[in-house]
Amino acid sequence: MKLTLADLQPLFELSVDMFVISSFDEVIAVNPAFLSAFGYTQEEVIGRDLSSYVYPEDWPLVEERIAEIRRGGTTVMFEFRCVIASGEVRWFQWSARADLELGRMYISGRDVTNRRIDAERLQRYADLLERTQRELKEAIEELTRVANTDQLTGLMNRRAFELRLAEELSRASRSGRPIAVAMFDVDRFKTINDTHGHPMGDIVLRELARRLDSARRPYDVLARWGGEEFIAIFPETSADNAKVAAERFALAVSARPMLLGRVPIDVRVSGGVVSVDKPQDDDELDLVASADQALRAAKENGRDRIETGTFTSSRSAA
Ligand code: GH3
Ligand code: MG
Ligand code: MG
Repeated sequence: MKLTLADLQPLFELSVDMFVISSFDEVIAVNPAFLSAFGYTQEEVIGRDLSSYVYPEDWPLVEERIAEIRRGGTTVMFEFRCVIASGEVRWFQWSARADLELGRMYISGRDVTNRRIDAERLQRYADLLERTQRELKEAIEELTRVANTDQLTGLMNRRAFELRLAEELSRASRSGRPIAVAMFDVDRFKTINDTHGHPMGDIVLRELARRLDSARRPYDVLARWGGEEFIAIFPETSADNAKVAAERFALAVSARPMLLGRVPIDVRVSGGVVSVDKPQDDDELDLVASADQALRAAKENGRDRIETGTFTSSRSAA
């Protein structure tokens, strides 16, 4: 059986997609789907200018497409905005091609407004989610930085130092390499505070931190232990080399007076250093205590010096 054009008429009427037959300028015929989408009657539609359906801002693009179709091109799923009878602007997707002999365009279209709204909304949520995640990550990074940093000097604080020491010890215990800890305390800092005032004492501490940090090798760790006490880790460093390193730190402080304000201030530190050859994971407290003990010895022996202590493990004693 051969189908005739008349057989297609019911489909034309039933289709939920819109069908339009037009010249290159005006509408010749539309199906009911078009009438219900645009809210016009058959009489209002026929003979009407194509441009009168299109949202003015989109008309130049549509005109270009019509010119292409006129040259024999086919347009598939081209989206632009139309103004419907109520005045509402909606998005439609159109496919069209021409019969050049008859001077006609065959157009099929559908309303894609809701799909576009959903897509836009989804995109907005995706953007928002991405931004929120990025801000959260930045906030966590900032909080972590603040939690690990000493406010006055900008050095690592005690909390962060203890975590780092645990890491370094566990690395050293695995590799079987030595590790050293040095503790420094400013000599007669009370006098500096008393003579120049507490705010100047703060400035001295900041400059001191800067000088100590300048002596640090990239793999050394330096932190403010508290008050005017500073602490360092020298990874993979034997007792002899640790003493050399600690002396370099002390010299960075005392090499020249601090010129803060009018009077030069002579600042010196004492230090205690201790190295352990075969460290174990849980040696942190003992290492710090042994360095502190060596520091006390440096104070007792006249200050402005580094003393090497012996590592005393509470574990081996037990
Ligand atoms: P020593 O040589 O025995 O260490 O003498 P010292 O005067 O340094 O004695 P001590 O270590 O007991 O005193 C430390 C002083 O450091 C006491 C405290 O007021 C001061 N200090 C601690 N933290 C800060 C701070 O953040 N800023 C200032 N300006 N002073 C501080
Ligand atoms: Mg002190
Ligand atoms: Mg002191």
